[in-house]
Amino acid sequence: MPTYTLPDLPYDYSALEPHLSGQIIELHHDKHHKTYVDGANTSIEKLAAARAAKEWDSLVGLEQTVAFNLGGHLLHSLYWSNLAPDGGGEPTGDLRTALDDTFGGFDAFREQMTQVVATAQGSAWAILSYEPAGKRLFVQQLYTHQDNHLIGAVPLLCIDAWEHAYYLQYKNVKADYAKAIWNVVNWDDVATRYASATSGSTVATTS
Ligand code: MN
Repeated sequence: MPTYTLPDLPYDYSALEPHLSGQIIELHHDKHHKTYVDGANTSIEKLAAARAAKEWDSLVGLEQTVAFNLGGHLLHSLYWSNLAPDGGGEPTGDLRTALDDTFGGFDAFREQMTQVVATAQGSAWAILSYEPAGKRLFVQQLYTHQDNHLIGAVPLLCIDAWEHAYYLQYKNVKADYAKAIWNVVNWDDVATRYASATSGSTVATTS
């Protein structure tokens, strides 16, 4: 059976400075993300063991643990890919048109996404996603790694709003992190994911 592995960062730890410190990125990738990878693999093994032994009393907890850890792994893989040292600016092309049409302009979209980060009550993510049934974009406020998820929605841009993503640098001022991260958004990556999602295919979450 396939196991999940921690992807390499596509840049150096300090590459996103001054917007995100190298210390944050190193801990976030090497410790936090790795914990979710290990947790996903372990909980899937436990689920298989429970199935074999018909230990169904543990099923509810294991389902939650798999969703939490595997969600954490996939979200962090997207987060690293969605950021780049030479990022920032504004998207162009079809993605820009869709953002304008859906949210009434890029600034309005960015303000909503920033507020989703800033207002999160606890551990959460802000996610721009494409919902294929309605063929439209959404901004989601995802709690932990799985709650508030829109079924079938394809994540395009994921911003980590957990405290470990910013606290060493921004302390209690989460709103400053929510603004600064736009300086390192990799719009080429987001646009590639949008093009794939709207054509019915998906881009691999990890390299
Ligand atoms: Mn995180």
